[in-house]
Parts: sequence; C-alpha cells; structure tokens
Amino acid sequence: MCGIVGFTGRQQASKILLEGLKKLEYRGYDSAGIAVMDGEKISVNKVRGRIANLEEKTKNGDAVPGTTGIGHTRWATHGAPTEENAHPHLSNDGRFAVVHNGIIENYLTLREELIRDGYHFESETDTEVIVHLIEQYYRGSMSEALIRATNRLRGSYALGVICTEKPDKIYAVREASPLILGIGLEENYFASDVTALVSHTRNVIYLEDGEFAELSPDSVRIYDCRGKAVDKEITRILWDVQAAEKGGYEHFMLKEIMEQPGAVKATITPRVKDNRIAFEELSISREELSDIRKIVITACGSAYYAGCSGKYALEKLCRIPVEVELASELRYSDPLIDEHTLLIVISQSGETADTIAAMKECKARGARTLAIVNVVGSTVAKLADYTVYTWAGPEIAVATTKGFTTQVTVLYMLALYFGDMLGLVGDRYEGILKSLLSLPRCIQHAIDLNAKVSRLAKKYHKSSSIFFIGRNTDYAVALEGALKMKEISYLHAEAYAAGELKHGTIALIEDHQPVIALCCNPAIMEKTLSNIVEVKSRGAEVLALTFRNNRKILSVADDLLFIPDVDALFSAVIEIVPLQLLAYYVAKENGCDIDKPKNLAKSVTVE
Ligand code: GLU
Repeated sequence: MCGIVGFTGRQQASKILLEGLKKLEYRGYDSAGIAVMDGEKISVNKVRGRIANLEEKTKNGDAVPGTTGIGHTRWATHGAPTEENAHPHLSNDGRFAVVHNGIIENYLTLREELIRDGYHFESETDTEVIVHLIEQYYRGSMSEALIRATNRLRGSYALGVICTEKPDKIYAVREASPLILGIGLEENYFASDVTALVSHTRNVIYLEDGEFAELSPDSVRIYDCRGKAVDKEITRILWDVQAAEKGGYEHFMLKEIMEQPGAVKATITPRVKDNRIAFEELSISREELSDIRKIVITACGSAYYAGCSGKYALEKLCRIPVEVELASELRYSDPLIDEHTLLIVISQSGETADTIAAMKECKARGARTLAIVNVVGSTVAKLADYTVYTWAGPEIAVATTKGFTTQVTVLYMLALYFGDMLGLVGDRYEGILKSLLSLPRCIQHAIDLNAKVSRLAKKYHKSSSIFFIGRNTDYAVALEGALKMKEISYLHAEAYAAGELKHGTIALIEDHQPVIALCCNPAIMEKTLSNIVEVKSRGAEVLALTFRNNRKILSVADDLLFIPDVDALFSAVIEIVPLQLLAYYVAKENGCDIDKPKNLAKSVTVE
C-alpha cells in the first residue's frame, strides 16, 4: 500500500530516498519520512501530506547528510495520518530506525508488554512495537535481533531497518508485503516496487516471505527466517524507463487509457499460435477441465468487475456455471468450494490482501487456482497453481484502465480456450478468434471518441449524480464505469441493471438527471431501449453508448457515442473505454487530482 525505499552507497542517501519515494507516490499515501545515518547518528525527518513537504523540510535533502538511509510513504492503518505517526520510527535509545508497510495484528499485546518492560511509545501506530522489539533483542547481531523480533509479530510486514552500530548497512525484511532489492555498483537499494529502482539499476532480487537481507555498498546477503543464508537469482528488468513515466500526457491515467490497444494486443499475441489460442503457462488437461463443476472468480474493485464482465463469455463458451465473488466477502462466507472448483483470482498488483486471503481459504478447501495478474513475481502469482500474466506494463494511475481491459481480455481468451478444449466451440472457433483478434483495433476506434467525450464531460461535470444502466455484459461495464466516475471525480455515480429500475430506483429519476445507457448487445437492445424510454419519460438526460448503425436509439437518446461492431460477448473491453475517458474529463473539469484520488491506494495490501 505505502512505499518503502532504502539506500546504501557512496552518494548522499537523502536525494535518492526522496526521488525513490516520489516514484512510489502513486501507491497512495498520507504522510512521509526519511531516516539518514551519518556516522553514528540517525536523523529523522517526517511530514504530513506530500513528498514536496518533505523536500521543503530537508532542503531537497541537502540538510540531511549521510550515505545510508531508509524512507517511507505511509497510508495510515493504525493511528491518524499525523507527523508523529509517520515513519520512520526510532527506538528509545536512538540506535534503530524502522519503516514498515503492512499491519501488525498482535500489536496491542506487544505494546502492553513493551510498556511493562519500560519502553515508551511516541506514536499510535502498530509499527512502533517493531523498533522496540529490535532494541530489546539486539545483542550486537542484527540478524539475531531481526529474527527474534519478527518471530513475535503476526500480520504483514515489509520492513526497512537501520542501526547506528552498522553504519553502512540497511536491512530489509519481507512477510506478506512486497519488497525488492536493487543491485548496483558500489551501492544497493531496496524498494516496494521496481518503479523506484529502474532509474538506478535493472538488476533486482525479489525477496520471498520469511526472508530478510543485509545490504552494504558492496554486498548483498539474504537469509531465511532461521538465519540460514540463501542464494537468490538476479532478475533483469526489461521495462523501458519511459514506460513508468508520463511520456507527454498530462496524467498517467490518460496515457494508460491510450495504451490499451497495445496492452491488449501484447496480452493476446503471445498466446496465439497457428490461429489457435495456446496458453503455454496452463498445464490443465482436458480430463482435469471436465472435472470442474463450477468456476468461481474472486477479486476486489475493478478486478471484480472484470470478473463480472468475463463471466458471460466463460458461461457461454464453456457451459460451466461461473460465480463472481468479492474477495473480502468470499473469505468469510464458509464458501462451498472443493476440488471440483476452479478459482480464478484477478489482481493487477498481485498483492491485494483480501484477494490473497480468499485465495488461501479456497485453496485450503481443495480448489485449483488460476491467477490473472499484471505484476510478475507477485504474491498471487506465486500462490496460484497456474498464472496468466496480463502484459499491461506498469500501471501508475490509481484508477485502473489498461489493467482492467487486459484482465477481461484474458477471461475472453480462457473462455475460448477452455470451451474449445471441452469440444463446445466447434466451427464457431474461427469467427470467435477473429473477433478476439480485432479487439485492439476496436479499442483504438473507441479511443478516437476522445474529443467528443471531452466535450460531453463539459455538459455532465456539474451534475450531482450520474446513473449508469445496462443489461448482462452492459451491466458489468456500467458497474466499472460508475466506479471510475466515483474514484476520480468524486461524483456520485450508481450502476443499475436496466431491468431493475422499475423495481425501485426509478423513483430517483427527475428532470435533467443524467443517465448513461449502455446498449451494446443487439439481442437485448430492444429491452434496454424500453428502459431508456422509461427514464426519458421522467425527465432524464440520456447519453447512450451503442454499436454502430443502431438507428433505433437515435430518437430516444439526447447524446450518442457509437462503438465499433464486435461480437457482443466481447464488447465490454470496448465499451469501457469511452466511460474511462468520461470519468477522466469530468474529473479534469472538476479540478481533481486524477492520478492520486483522495483516500485511495493503488495496491490495497491491507484487509
Ligand atoms: N500499519 C502501519 C501504520 O499505520 C503501516 C501502514 C502502511 O503500510 O503505510 O503506520
């Protein structure tokens, strides 16, 4: 959720820490801080709010000399987002500083115990117990202190630690929260993700849960939770640095919307061989697939709506019942899941805490697990029996766009792949594959609506609420469209299944109420059309999104957006694009902080 960086080398640490923290800003945070070691002294600087405040406070780092340090952006879970609660936290004797990402579930018991032992607390955080435990257990060996302290912790933690008695060393610990080591020349780093590292080094090591590392400018040592040294592979990051930067666009979100044709193409192309879908990463046999009685898709937020959007294609082509469940609900629902269930887990970051927990719960009940993930080597990817990566590249804007469309694309491909394996597609295969392959081009046509959507945003941005309606896949898109609007423009937006309006919600329709009607499935178009007429009769202002040449809609809608013709089974990834653009331009009209919406974080690593 928050961000951690660490540096040890010959250069001044503060500048590198500040720069790294800025790269991690997109993860969402409310306060920030750095601790830098100069000889045997640790100086800590913390602020509420943005990194810019920290730059001001430290005179861009110049006021804080030293070549070893750790930094943190905090997304408060325990204690208000104040300066006192911001990390790094210092031990009472001033010898240790700690930054932490995650939650210590048993912190209250530990806090009481430490207070009894004479430690005093400066903050309300769960994190502070860690630094006091380290002080308590330290007898000259940091490895021993870290092992003993972390043995007492329950919960999730990525930790960065420094100690005045080890002047050029930084320590990293990982348990259920991401942490990556960056290997440089006479300098080494750690960070919550590679975006903070790529401008310095492309050589990284992914720490696993239960491992910790000791880094000095010239050495990297990694140990397991018993202190045994482990050998780790260095992974080379092939990303273009540009890919993690804005590349001329005003916001990451707009850049990422525009990248969707390429991202969807990159997700499809490596899996098409000789005019057939081929998932080399899936070793599911036909027998195993025939043994599956139901598919459960679980995820949170937009990934959940990706599941809702993909459900129809899976059911239609595989004839296996598909349930889509919110991970935070599934995990506590005593789910009816067994070895005949295929659990599809969707997460852009692969670190979503609720999703991981639901996945573990279902695995324990015997389900086979297939993960759809964007971040390579993430926890969800590691836990799953099978992982299919979306090749969306780094997604920086908090509100997902290309993450969503690539997830839905993978579900479409799985639907065709499994349906064919089960012998249910027959001679429709070629036509369906052709539709799939046309998606990047169709998405590009939807992006071409950009100018028109930005004009429409001027009409709608002052509304106090917007409704989105649709049926089947159109309804799934309505849910994601409304979420986009809420996330970045803070405008009240609700999605309703179009047929449900008359069962209650229509009471809310009055003069000039904007209603966005999604009408992209010719088979049920007439039904949605009736619902549009119903809201029009009550004064609504209707913006309809529909397929080209749908003349029938002309007379009922006030404004129209046409998307290219495509098999209705796959239209969700095209329909969502104008809605992403609408949310973007409404937020822009309203002066919102589009890439970093208030109260939200990119990767939600807390429950
Ligand atoms: N639980 C810790 C706190 O509230 C860390 C939160 C975070 O991951 O930023 O301070």
